[in-house]
Amino acid sequence: MTIDFDTALETVCFTGLRPGPKLLVTGAVHGNEICGPQAIARAIEDCRSGRLAIARGHVTFVPVVNAKAYRQGTREGDRNLNRDLRERADPSSNEDLLGNVLCRLLRAHDVLLDIHSFRSRGEPFVFVGPSNNAGPIEPFRLAEPERDLARRLGPRLAMFGWLPTYARAAAARNGNAAEGTGTTEYLRSCGGYGVTLECGQHTDPRAPDVAYDAILRALNHLRLTDAGPPSITVERAIEIVDVVLCHSVGDRLVREWRTGDPVKAGETIATREDGSPLAAPADGFVIFPHANARPMEEMYYFGVAGSLGI
Ligand SMILES: [Zn+2]
Repeated sequence: MTIDFDTALETVCFTGLRPGPKLLVTGAVHGNEICGPQAIARAIEDCRSGRLAIARGHVTFVPVVNAKAYRQGTREGDRNLNRDLRERADPSSNEDLLGNVLCRLLRAHDVLLDIHSFRSRGEPFVFVGPSNNAGPIEPFRLAEPERDLARRLGPRLAMFGWLPTYARAAAARNGNAAEGTGTTEYLRSCGGYGVTLECGQHTDPRAPDVAYDAILRALNHLRLTDAGPPSITVERAIEIVDVVLCHSVGDRLVREWRTGDPVKAGETIATREDGSPLAAPADGFVIFPHANARPMEEMYYFGVAGSLGI
């Protein structure tokens, strides 16, 4: 008999005996990002054995959000769960069904730590949302606590500017700006806050430790444990300001960029099929380079030095 593991989502909760915030920790929203499941399983065992004591508040661990993709070893099951995340009255795919459960889970929590890894090489970083604003794309009022958490999770680098940049890319391919809504964006829209932790390259053996350390730091920072507050680790920030789409299969990155590689204004990052160069518009950084991007997929993002000041 074949057992279908994809029909339920495993959640493991620990509730402190004193009041405190509700934290959600998620792994494998993308199925091939295995550092989250490993780190979360370790944290669950620590809580069960008493090595890690939840003193107040509540933590929900979801080791594997996208079980179908995880089992397949692929980023997606039927589609990217971390795009256009919302509740659907007529779910028609694995990710639609998961999205409905995930949205309810997110709404039941105050804070999210969503653990990912990425394709290219590069140092770990943490993604934060916008500054406080009342604008149309991503209105937000909790930038201070979100950035305070992000600064203390272990990585030295923080990034921001995802949603406005993604919305421009979506517009460029006649898509929907809401496509950029993933887990953190959804929780912000519901009155909470959260960060995406990118632990390094998918296969980096250090990534599970980066993820585990961040879980402990989040628990300590939010005072779910009695351990003291974690140190500030973020030293610099990059604001993502542009995304370059692949237009045709002959478009090429000029070298094997790593996420976070610095480039000078005018430096060629990639070339179009006809040989015309795609140059850095300013001194900045290459983010999420994708050497095998297909037409209308993102070939790379571009960022500039930014500040997490609010
Ligand atoms: Zn991911």
